[in-house]
Amino acid sequence: MEKQKLWINGIAVILIPIVVAWVSNTFASAIKQNEVQGQFVEIAIDILKETPDEDNPKENLRKWAINIVNKYSGVPLDSATTKELTYDFSLLANKTITIPVPEYQNSQFIGKKTYVHPNFSESLDRLNDFAQGSGIEIYVTSSFRTSSNSQIRQISPATRSRHLIGYAIDVNVKYADKFYNSRLLSKYPNDLPDPVVEFIQHIIDNPLLEWGGHFNVKDPVHIGLIATEEEYDKIYLEMVDGILTDSKPIQ
Ligand SMILES: [Zn+2]
Repeated sequence: MEKQKLWINGIAVILIPIVVAWVSNTFASAIKQNEVQGQFVEIAIDILKETPDEDNPKENLRKWAINIVNKYSGVPLDSATTKELTYDFSLLANKTITIPVPEYQNSQFIGKKTYVHPNFSESLDRLNDFAQGSGIEIYVTSSFRTSSNSQIRQISPATRSRHLIGYAIDVNVKYADKFYNSRLLSKYPNDLPDPVVEFIQHIIDNPLLEWGGHFNVKDPVHIGLIATEEEYDKIYLEMVDGILTDSKPIQ
């Protein structure tokens, strides 16, 4: 009996300081964490107190601030308030999104309606001539695309997608009643009929054009007009203005 008690006492002597140290350590870090969190909430509230500026809504910063408040304040915001605090979307919601580029049509172009920037038309005319000569039809699956409202005010989208400025089309190539899609075109120059190979070669050889099959992430259905970053940003801003002011398409 006496032996067992001693043994338990022994454990207690060793364990109690460890437990005390552990508990106080946990408390200390909890307090520290609360302080940091408190500071974050303060910063977040400062950000949200600012009235969003239409030209520079700092939307991502405001979203971050809202997340901080939701996480650490103990009183999460409801979704309507979150929306109001992020950005006054009513500014954009009442705008009709017009397509700021004209429709492009030509004899070999089939598929979806094609909207491209007029700068791209001449290259597409040449592509059309080539396709006509070799019995190819160009089935367009995608052309001009808008970014979503929430991104529309960005100076330039991270990817500088040519589709956002009407400088790109995605196509399947139709030859002898067969469609050559992304999977088939990615085999270029193998396993494709000569006219299809020549069609792609024609795109590659045109110094004004870029073919998506040469991208790091292969996108063989993509045909784009080359633009410098400066040119891209200039056109992108014109597009955004065109969309936001309901102006007529760029002709
Ligand atoms: Zn594309």
